[in-house]
Amino acid sequence: ERGRLSRLLHTPAVTMDGEKVLLLANIEMPEDANAALKAGALGVGLFRSEFLFMGRQNNLPDEEEQYHAYRRAVEGMQGLPVTIRTVDVGADKPLDNSTRDNSHLNPALGLRAIRWSLADPAMFLTQLRAILRAAAHGKVNLLVPMLAHASEIRQTLAHVQQARAQLDQKGLVYGPVKLGAMIEIPAAALSVKYFLKHFDYLSIGTNDLIQYTLAIDRADESVAHLYDPLHPAVLRLVSETIAESIAQGKEVTVCGEMAGDISLTRLLLGMGLRTFSMHPAQILAVKQEILRADTTRLAPWAKRVCAADDPAQEMTTAARGHRTA
Ligand code: PEP
Ligand code: MG
Repeated sequence: ERGRLSRLLHTPAVTMDGEKVLLLANIEMPEDANAALKAGALGVGLFRSEFLFMGRQNNLPDEEEQYHAYRRAVEGMQGLPVTIRTVDVGADKPLDNSTRDNSHLNPALGLRAIRWSLADPAMFLTQLRAILRAAAHGKVNLLVPMLAHASEIRQTLAHVQQARAQLDQKGLVYGPVKLGAMIEIPAAALSVKYFLKHFDYLSIGTNDLIQYTLAIDRADESVAHLYDPLHPAVLRLVSETIAESIAQGKEVTVCGEMAGDISLTRLLLGMGLRTFSMHPAQILAVKQEILRADTTRLAPWAKRVCAADDPAQEMTTAARGHRTA
């Protein structure tokens, strides 16, 4: 199967009805840029920068170290865009691996991601400066995780401004970035119009959006059977976020696991999604689904699926908008 799929490496991701789709990679380390390119990704849609921080509780990377790491990722992508997400430690990604028992210090509902960054402005500014400097070497999008409140958005944007001013003061070179917010808290999905006023693009983190919508700890095996991407409430938050972004003419991506799940590719296409970011290993299989898809049929079908009492059931019915529909 891998061998057969590899023939699609250089095939453009275009649906049967001519809709162009952008397939991006999720990476954890700068060196992963290589795997992203090899998999045919046309950019990095999510660089999880927290992997530079994890296990380094008492020795966080300084500005120079971060700048070089981000620059390596940017240069590794050879001119293709790289979306760098500010640190998202906490919950399933503890800062200190040796104290997993202490993960209650940054639990899923606690001081994680942007909350953690805003609690330590010096550290946040350090990361923002490093990202802005890396943007002088290629196309960089800045992405902020776990936003929910207007005050967090205001503070975040003020910090980005301040980081630029600090770089100006030091006479250090930096580049332009597009600013994006992750939609991964139901409150954010329900305030998407507000987010769109303040950001250039949105990226839907379905892993957390599902966790928080359904109150299912994504790391807890005992409730894993209730973790359901096809719950009508989840589909509504995802589809409305996509629809509103399109209506405002803004880019929208899905970067959670849903983007790399081939059983969901047609549904996301039907909702209007045209940018998917996923583990590099998923890219060609998703591309194959795209090549077989007809969005003119998928759009009305996706509406029916989202409106159904049992979307999973609706998806398997004959009128599913697939090849035979
Ligand atoms: C998500 O929540 O869907 C996401 C992409 O972020 P992470 O998995 O790193 O929390
Ligand atoms: Mg997340």
